[in-house]
Amino acid sequence: MSSRPTVLLIGCGVAGPVLALLLKQKGYHPIVFEKVAALGDAGASLMLNPNGLKVLSLVNGIPSLEHPITTFWHGTPSGTTLVTSDLPRSYPTRYGHSARGVKRTALNLHLKQLLLDAGIELREGWQLNSITENTDSVTAGFTNDQTATGTFLIGSDGIKAASRRLILQKENPATGEGEGPPTFTGLIQVAGISRTTRESPRGRMGNYYGEGVHVIVYPVSASEVSWAVTMSQDKEMAESWQSEGAEGLQARKKMLEEKLAGFEDTVLELVRDADRIISFGLFDRQELEAEQWFSKRCVLVGDAAHPTSPHLGQGANQALEDCYHLSRLLPNVDGDSADYSLAETGLKAVFSEFARLRQPRTSALVKEARRLGHEQRVVFGAERCRERDARLVAAWSDPEKVFEGMDRLLKEPF
Ligand SMILES: Cc1cc2nc3c(=O)[nH]c(=O)nc-3n(C[C@H](O)[C@H](O)[C@H](O)COP(=O)(O)OP(=O)(O)OC[C@H]3O[C@@H](n4cnc5c(N)ncnc54)[C@H](O)[C@@H]3O)c2cc1C
Repeated sequence: MSSRPTVLLIGCGVAGPVLALLLKQKGYHPIVFEKVAALGDAGASLMLNPNGLKVLSLVNGIPSLEHPITTFWHGTPSGTTLVTSDLPRSYPTRYGHSARGVKRTALNLHLKQLLLDAGIELREGWQLNSITENTDSVTAGFTNDQTATGTFLIGSDGIKAASRRLILQKENPATGEGEGPPTFTGLIQVAGISRTTRESPRGRMGNYYGEGVHVIVYPVSASEVSWAVTMSQDKEMAESWQSEGAEGLQARKKMLEEKLAGFEDTVLELVRDADRIISFGLFDRQELEAEQWFSKRCVLVGDAAHPTSPHLGQGANQALEDCYHLSRLLPNVDGDSADYSLAETGLKAVFSEFARLRQPRTSALVKEARRLGHEQRVVFGAERCRERDARLVAAWSDPEKVFEGMDRLLKEPF
């Protein structure tokens, strides 16, 4: 084992690799454990906003992206504009970065490559299933019967985090109870990536608001557009990224063409054009108190701490804010200075400050995302839809107010 403090990072999604890179810069010896045997296909896409991109830039983590979002467009299914705004054009001067869509797989593989380039060990096919905290160390157990020991452990294993379950179980040792599965929000998404159509201007993030259905469209490369249809569904659907075979693809296209009857051709063409369509349930969880985010030698970040439904486009960006703050608060262990303590009390002080700083902000955003899902994106009844559209127009009518809201989100974390 290296003489530098070893940090066990569980999960190589967004937060795990970024935190590993930041902690390596501070002198730690991070090891990343990922349950998937070989990282690769990881769902459709996500929006990186300036708050997340600032953190990615600290580790050279911004994949080459040449398609910033320059315009927000909100409109009706037939293409009538409710709101159009070129506010994102000012993001670089106001917040230091543009907003950008990225294919999830491209981001994950880029982060994996950065780990390898930095000489950080990544163990794929290692699925966490136990945690034992000792006086000076923590030992993680994996389903492949292997163990690993470090000074502390960071749970960055996403919405179904084993780390979270194990930490919560420690709170209830008598009953061994942790927490149930994530909460199905009653909404699902059907999504794909298609070639850019003539009518879909570059740099535009479009939101189409129908009755009981919402479509979001944004570019993820110079020639590709990511789209996602949100709708309600009574029956819970797993949050699976798997696509189906050719028959399944045709069935999904047919279902969407029926669901999107009356939508402008641009949207229907995207659906027809997709080589692959995925469908998944949308989940979040009840918030944890800040004190539940950590134990003696373990702390949760990202979706493991505050899983969210995607309607605000902030889950990954908040995971990245977590990385910045946790790494900032942990002592620098590079060099000869022994002016730090990774004893239980020292770690607890850091974890506690981190969780107390991050819990209120992330908790509010998770609630806001859930509210948006049901009050703005998937709304039923002609009258309620008219009210929703009017609220949208009103909300965007005062640019100063819009900027105030954006500032609260995007001026962070530094
Ligand atoms: C449909 C959808 C759209 C979204 N769009 C956006 C968006 O536009 N913008 C945005 O900011 N966010 C978006 N999000 C949210 C975003 O994807 C998450 O918030 C983000 O990925 C969280 O990062 P993370 O590192 O915490 O977890 P993840 O990225 O989920 O990574 C967790 C990793 O841990 C691994 N793992 C799980 N269990 C174990 C285990 N037991 N042992 C070892 N490894 C394990 C997983 O395989 C995975 O690689 C969206 C989410 C969804 C569902």
